[in-house]
Amino acid sequence: MQRRELLKFFSLVPMAGSAALIPWAAANAAPPPSVKRDYFKELGVRTFINAAGTYTMMTGSLMHDYVLDAIQYGATEFCMLDELQDKVGEKIAALVHSEAAVVTSGAFSGMTLGLAGILTGVDQRKVEQLPHLDGTGMKSEVIIQKAHDIVYNHALKNTGCKLIYVETAAEVEQAINDKTALLHFLNIEADKGKIQHEEWVALGRKYNIPTSIDIAADVPPVSNLWKFNDMGFSFVVISGGKAIRGPQSAGLLMGKKEIITAARLHMPPRGFNIGRGFKVNKEEILGMYVALEKYIQQDHDKEWKAWEATTAQIDNAAKTVNGVTTSITVPALGNVTPTLQITWDASKVKLTGKELQEKLRSGIPSIEIGGVKDNSITVTVWMLKPGQSTIVAARIKEELAKATA
Ligand SMILES: *Cc1c(COP(=O)(O)O)cnc(C)c1O
Repeated sequence: MQRRELLKFFSLVPMAGSAALIPWAAANAAPPPSVKRDYFKELGVRTFINAAGTYTMMTGSLMHDYVLDAIQYGATEFCMLDELQDKVGEKIAALVHSEAAVVTSGAFSGMTLGLAGILTGVDQRKVEQLPHLDGTGMKSEVIIQKAHDIVYNHALKNTGCKLIYVETAAEVEQAINDKTALLHFLNIEADKGKIQHEEWVALGRKYNIPTSIDIAADVPPVSNLWKFNDMGFSFVVISGGKAIRGPQSAGLLMGKKEIITAARLHMPPRGFNIGRGFKVNKEEILGMYVALEKYIQQDHDKEWKAWEATTAQIDNAAKTVNGVTTSITVPALGNVTPTLQITWDASKVKLTGKELQEKLRSGIPSIEIGGVKDNSITVTVWMLKPGQSTIVAARIKEELAKATA
């Protein structure tokens, strides 16, 4: 309102002009516009369209509004951290068919905590001894298939345990001894190992040794949330900030009640343990809970069809360029989503994958893609916001076409 209009307005209102009624009028100034700070811009941090996937380096996934609402809600009140973990844990356990569950700071910390719980039970003296196992009477070895040897297994070593690598069931049986704490399985490499899930669980049962599985990147399908609990793994870990789109600094540890109870002795609010640094507060706990609940309820067929349609849009644009061929595949394990590979004949399209990556990255808006090789890249659409696929399709086509000139 202009000053003149304001005066007119005041003249029509009883007690008009009273500073008590309209506080900002007292300052004789218009109310300050609520300016939303653009932190990334202020800081000079590049933001981008994520056509790559759920990468920690790229900050994982984007949370839905209902997750942000839960986080914001959590930030407005105090509560007891343990009470919240108890109550949310019960709800989550029911959703995923486990005896118990706890929100952790990710799948990685879930592995450390689950194993720590197995090693110490609820003996507080042992809790305080980790990661030193020598002379404590605690077990100290974890058996893993060679094909399942990935960086994240370091989470198990953080307890002080040694990893023992095997290939066959016979080797598992030879490796088992009275120091064996756990048989650990990695779902994303399941097809590369000689021993499959059920046999792994059966070996654990036969020797009365707990079994665990890392399914960090293994929804969809949504049924994986309960499949491995139903199968009998003693504990299961999954990331919160991948396809579930919960907080990136959250995950789930699900499993046998006695393991979860013991694992929590290694977590905040308690110190004197190896897990004090794996802190999640009420905000992540509520965010993870609602993200999981809604993820389970959502229409997965509809989401899948939307991913297919969007992938086809980018595919159709890319393959109009002379010398470009494409394929759409779905990984059998881990990051199960349509994955578009765009490949080009290097004699027709004079561009390396790395050069294309740079061009897309430095364009406006900036775009990140994945799977960069000499003459191919990959694109996934599950982390795109509505409308971004049109930009991705146009930019990829544009850069490929330019390189054919
Ligand atoms: C992402 C991932 C992890 C680590 O999960 P966080 O939730 O980031 O701790 C562990 N294992 C596999 C197979 C993963 O893909």
